[in-house]
Amino acid sequence: MAPARIEVLIPRDRIQQRIAELGAQITAEYAGRSLVMVGVLKGSFMFLADLVRHIDLPVRIEFIGTKSYEGTTTSGQVQLTKDLDKPIQDEDVLLVEDIIDTGLTLNYLLHVLRQREPRSVRTVAFLDKPSRRRIEVQGDYIGFTIEDKFVIGYGLDFDQRYRSLADLCILVS
Ligand code: 5GP
Repeated sequence: MAPARIEVLIPRDRIQQRIAELGAQITAEYAGRSLVMVGVLKGSFMFLADLVRHIDLPVRIEFIGTKSYEGTTTSGQVQLTKDLDKPIQDEDVLLVEDIIDTGLTLNYLLHVLRQREPRSVRTVAFLDKPSRRRIEVQGDYIGFTIEDKFVIGYGLDFDQRYRSLADLCILVS
């Protein structure tokens, strides 16, 4: 079998430009407040690192871990693999996702976080694939809306590889 070829879907410059816009929008909408940004491991690590540098507010960083994906198909089950380090009660929380695909992970995480009585919870997702939704849920801030393609790079993996690519890519076999 020929090795898979990698093609760029969204180049790094376009990604950085869009993240600067998102950061400015979030900074303006939360003006005068502080934020707890909760990165969903592992896929959001690069997006979170770039986005936070465009947010001009007092920010606390937390991470939460979930597991739901096997290869390129979703199992439909979501589990917590890592919890927050500190409480979020009365805090403004911004959940930072790599991609909203079926929506199962986001729906689960919103449920988990809301039980902890934050002041507010919103979601920023680098990518949105609305055509794949299995549950009605949406992000408050979206970087890019994409078609139903399996993407890699910019934090996203295929079997734990390719996360370090600076561009968002697709594997072409
Ligand atoms: P959900 O289906 O629950 O909305 O998304 C769960 C997780 O599946 C995402 O956070 C992401 O890590 C992974 N995922 C969904 N679509 C893709 C994709 O196209 N590429 C990669 N690498 N991961 C994806």
